[in-house]
Amino acid sequence: MRANRSRDTTPELATRRLAHAAGLRYLVDSKPEPALNRKADLVFRGPRIAVFIDGCFWHGCPVHHRLPVRNREYWDAKVKRNVARDIDTNVQLTRLGWTVQRYWEHQTPAEIVNDLKARVHSTKGATS
Ligand SMILES: [Zn+2]
Repeated sequence: MRANRSRDTTPELATRRLAHAAGLRYLVDSKPEPALNRKADLVFRGPRIAVFIDGCFWHGCPVHHRLPVRNREYWDAKVKRNVARDIDTNVQLTRLGWTVQRYWEHQTPAEIVNDLKARVHSTKGATS
């Protein structure tokens, strides 16, 4: 088990490297809205895009999430809480004028970055 699962996981790191190489500029692991205590993996302040790269296990990926045999109820409840929190984060940020983009960690960094590039460039006020 990683000591810190929310940061610097390999798919996320690879995605950040590729995004940076593609000329995208963003903040890492920061709060889009200081008053809202939720951190996004990548934050594009100009176009107001908050990006989350969700882990397949922790966020209940429909393709890969499987509950462990042991402590099944515990993990089921935990992942359900995460998913509920994700939905709440989406709602709150959208209300504050942010575009929320969620990707799965099983998506390739190239796939994520291509999609991000298109979104950042099509959003009014984009600075990169
Ligand atoms: Zn997955």
